[in-house]
Amino acid sequence: MFKVPPVPARRLPELLRAMPKAELHIHIEGSLEPELIFALAQRNGVALPYASVEALRSAYAFTNLQSFLDIYYAGASVLLHEQDFYDMAWAYLQRAAADQVVRAEIFFDPQTHTSRGVSMQTVLQGLHRACEDARAQLGVSAVLILCFLRHLSEEDAFATLEQALPYRDRIVGVGLDSSELGHPPEKFARVFARCRELGLRLVAHAGEEGPPAYIWSALDVLKVERIDHGVQAVHDAALMQRLAHDRIPLTVCPLSNQKLCVFPDLRQHNLGTLLDAGLAATVNSDDPAYFGGYINDNFTQVFAATGLTAKHAYQLAFNSFEASFASDAEKRDWEHRLKGVFERFVEHD
Ligand SMILES: [Zn+2]
Repeated sequence: MFKVPPVPARRLPELLRAMPKAELHIHIEGSLEPELIFALAQRNGVALPYASVEALRSAYAFTNLQSFLDIYYAGASVLLHEQDFYDMAWAYLQRAAADQVVRAEIFFDPQTHTSRGVSMQTVLQGLHRACEDARAQLGVSAVLILCFLRHLSEEDAFATLEQALPYRDRIVGVGLDSSELGHPPEKFARVFARCRELGLRLVAHAGEEGPPAYIWSALDVLKVERIDHGVQAVHDAALMQRLAHDRIPLTVCPLSNQKLCVFPDLRQHNLGTLLDAGLAATVNSDDPAYFGGYINDNFTQVFAATGLTAKHAYQLAFNSFEASFASDAEKRDWEHRLKGVFERFVEHD
């Protein structure tokens, strides 16, 4: 492992913003800013239950995951045409590039759209085109992960998978999101087994609000390669050992955890505990339009609140590359660039 040079604390925010990083936990529908929601509503003639951009933004006072999801699904109702999906993803990818994101593995929720009569093809073409343009114009390697909504049925998930199969080459993997409590991973055991046979990479949200048992079953029943969130693992010593030993990545989202009251005060966030226990934690933005910040805001705010150091910063960026589904050659290239940025921040006497 690269020996991280000492970086003065005052330069840490600048370093966090400058270092290359991968974002592995971003719901593209959660990147829809109120301004774009209103612009798309107008373009598509969709009536919104909010009078203005300000009224919508002020409704973002969530108390838990469900109160957020209710507004999130209302916002997504303005997405109807391929160009709408393109515009949403392109806006995110430009922001990501500005935050030195070199790799984005983007979640999308097709059921939120197909249930409103929007076709899988419309959704996937718009998102895929934005990913292609990001590679060509922004130098961002971007791929798509199809997420099943866990509050819906297994049957619905299977139907969604079926609709996506003609576009198999446009998705790198599948995930599981939406309301966690009461919807344990086991509910989707057969769906994930089928996805595994199809060669899709597997991830799932677990241990955000749900218990450590959900993380165990995501690993052992669904056989996922990454856990999204996973911060509740600290309540189970055996699970912590398993996650560290197998280097199972956790895609942690500090500002989301704060907004949804998983850790009401960012100073209580356990990111440092996870890293110091040897877990492959990463930092991500989850639903940046709703939770008050993109990936660099997540980095700078959680570092300021919890006193993490340059060594943690290096580890988090390194983990994000290792945890990605990119090729080994791409990972080595990003790690080389990461070292270069850290070396620029060394101050000699
Ligand atoms: Zn999420």
